[in-house]
Amino acid sequence: MSQIDELCAELLQKVRELELLTQQLLKEQEEESRLGYAWSGDLGHWYWNMQSNSVVFNTKEIQAMGYDRSELPERVTYQFFTDRLHSDDYERTMAAMKSHMRSEAKVYEVEYRIKAKNGEWIWFYDRGKITQRDSDGKPLFAAGIVFDISEQKARETILTEHNRLLSEDARTDSLTGILNRKAILADLNGQMMESSTQKKPVSVVLVDIDHFKSINDTYGHVTGDMVLKEVTQAIRDVLRDRDSIGRYGGEEFLVILPETDLNQAIRAGERIRREIASREFSCSCPVTISGGVQTYQGEDLMDLIHSADQKLYQAKQGGRNRMIG
Ligand code: GH3
Ligand code: MG
Ligand code: MG
Repeated sequence: MSQIDELCAELLQKVRELELLTQQLLKEQEEESRLGYAWSGDLGHWYWNMQSNSVVFNTKEIQAMGYDRSELPERVTYQFFTDRLHSDDYERTMAAMKSHMRSEAKVYEVEYRIKAKNGEWIWFYDRGKITQRDSDGKPLFAAGIVFDISEQKARETILTEHNRLLSEDARTDSLTGILNRKAILADLNGQMMESSTQKKPVSVVLVDIDHFKSINDTYGHVTGDMVLKEVTQAIRDVLRDRDSIGRYGGEEFLVILPETDLNQAIRAGERIRREIASREFSCSCPVTISGGVQTYQGEDLMDLIHSADQKLYQAKQGGRNRMIG
């Protein structure tokens, strides 16, 4: 092929591309003026010639990304955007596009973050469609719209955090900051199921402060509350990370010891008992606890608690400041 022929072929190709683009733009323009979208001013439009891989778009999207049109390369490719995609959103975005290209999804629709010129992440909602295919069904042209949804996403993040705090609140005992009765029982239920499937033991210790009423009566409720918090802290200090503790009742605590058999649990209970008996508390009075230790043996949740409670009762009967397993 001569140089002239090559040039002609190149020009012809260019003309075909432009024709395709013009057709598309005219079609869009017509539809838009017919419908007269009230929100069309906030919208980014894009047109992607998939054969030549060039993307044409209105200024909105580029402004949102912090660029001026003069800063863009002469030919903007699909990769101009994908290069700036957040790595956490990349696969999802590619999967959405591929699935639409294979005609599995009716439209391409995805939310992703793109890095703006100043390094900030901007959330976009992008929705597009292949508008032209060749006779074999191969995609030739796609067009779509894109919205900057960063503000909406920021509100979503605040709401999600708010919900997380609310549900944490619903699980927490407000005085001591540990799990409340409902939450510790739910935790125990989960541990029991895991123990059954994994064939690993799980044990509980039901702890009750001795003569707590007389601490309240002698030093007042405010000091009583402080002692409750200090006892909570003392128990937490001797527990392992995987153990959990909840406030089962007024001055009663339920401790869950995963992967712990009865003998190990009795030793853990003893550690708790000794720790409290040796600490100083706000009341400057001796504080002791009694406890009942039980290992899960396939019974119901409340039967397990009941067995631990019976042993706690024995500890009280036996003179308090002791663990019965
Ligand atoms: P025992 O050794 O038999 O367990 O005696 P006790 O006095 O500890 O048991 P009792 O059940 O008679 O009293 C428990 C007390 O705990 C009564 C209640 O006022 C007090 N209590 C329960 N919840 C709280 C709380 O949140 N703050 C304070 N300060 N006291 C509480
Ligand atoms: Mg009690
Ligand atoms: Mg008590």
